Amino acid sequence: MFSKINFSGKKVLIRVDFNVPLNEDFSIADDTRIRAALPTIQKVLEDGGSAILMSHLGRPKEGPEEKFSLKHLTQRIEQLTKAKVIFAEDCIGLPVRQMVKELAPGQILLLENLRFHKEEKEGEEKFSKQLAHLADIYVNDAFGTAHRAHASTSIIAKHFTPENKMFGLLMEAEISNLKKVTAEPVRPLTAIIGGAKISSKIEVVENLLDTVDHLIIGGGMAFTFLKAQGYNIGNSLVEEDKLATALEALKIAATNQVQLHLPTDSIAADNFSETARTQITIDQNVPADWMGLDIGPKTIANYQAVLQQSKTILWNGPMGVFEMEQFKTGTLSIANTIAEVSQQEAYSLIGGGDSVAAINQFGLADQVSYVSTGGGAMLQYLEGKDLPGVVAIEDEQ
Ligand code: AMP
Repeated sequence: MFSKINFSGKKVLIRVDFNVPLNEDFSIADDTRIRAALPTIQKVLEDGGSAILMSHLGRPKEGPEEKFSLKHLTQRIEQLTKAKVIFAEDCIGLPVRQMVKELAPGQILLLENLRFHKEEKEGEEKFSKQLAHLADIYVNDAFGTAHRAHASTSIIAKHFTPENKMFGLLMEAEISNLKKVTAEPVRPLTAIIGGAKISSKIEVVENLLDTVDHLIIGGGMAFTFLKAQGYNIGNSLVEEDKLATALEALKIAATNQVQLHLPTDSIAADNFSETARTQITIDQNVPADWMGLDIGPKTIANYQAVLQQSKTILWNGPMGVFEMEQFKTGTLSIANTIAEVSQQEAYSLIGGGDSVAAINQFGLADQVSYVSTGGGAMLQYLEGKDLPGVVAIEDEQ
């Protein structure tokens, strides 16, 4: 829908996710999120519309805080869009309304951090109405916050008629890529789930067990599965209260004829550090006093063979402690294979903070099919739950 609209002469309120990391001097450490929203902003400006940008930044506690001010982004947005960017010191109120009135076509008004008002997170009705009154059209392009029912991401939509609210290009891309994995994917469909804890991913695992052909488990969470099956895991990460959950997942996998793959060997370390002594375990067991910090070579080969047969791949969570040189091989090998098969026939979707960090660190981001910008939102979607930011717009179209 977005691409078909002509925004000429319109005041367009765009919810972006400009929650970028700032250095101590308030310079921008990583502008990926700003760049991700550029196509949407550019389209509005090129049509001859005015863009009013609203976002949160960080987690301000009560009211305005210098370190969370969006004013630190003004210059960068100006450089990237080559448009005039005017900064408003609040996101609602009379002065802001005046600035909107004076905003010319092709110009950007950047509003101050939405979360300086507690009403944003509370999803307060009146606050959302005040925001809505600033513009003719509401565009949601903030996939990173789509899982929150906040005033600017969801509640605001009710103040616009169906033809005046829509997703931006980034949101559209995120949703259509997620659908490639969740709605009639090309099979075999393989999900690789890793990371530290089973507790944060179990709902995703359970939901994926209804759809995938292969489920590959790696990272710290694999050891809860291995312990539940009776293996010794030494000092590896474990969630004792999730042993039954892990067994239950294994049972569901068997019932649903999902091939669930667990590590068959590990790189074990004698402590959690860069300089630890290491050994490759001979099988699933980790010796007493050692901890598994990466998947081993046999496991890598098994997982790569599964990926090579897959036509659709979803990856969330690293295979080991990839931040440390000694324990990054598993994650790097999996990333390389995903990149390789994506260059051939397979479709791959990578999401979640740490897998995205890994794929960027390895310089492979442009060799996979799609890298999602929203970790929490993507997980919630994969859990089979509605995203308030998506539902608010999708339900009426
Ligand atoms: P998550 O946020 O749950 O996706 O977890 C990501 C974190 O899990 C990364 O910081 C990894 O270093 C960590 N991790 C991966 N594998 C292991 C492991 N075997 N033991 C401990 N931590 C791990």
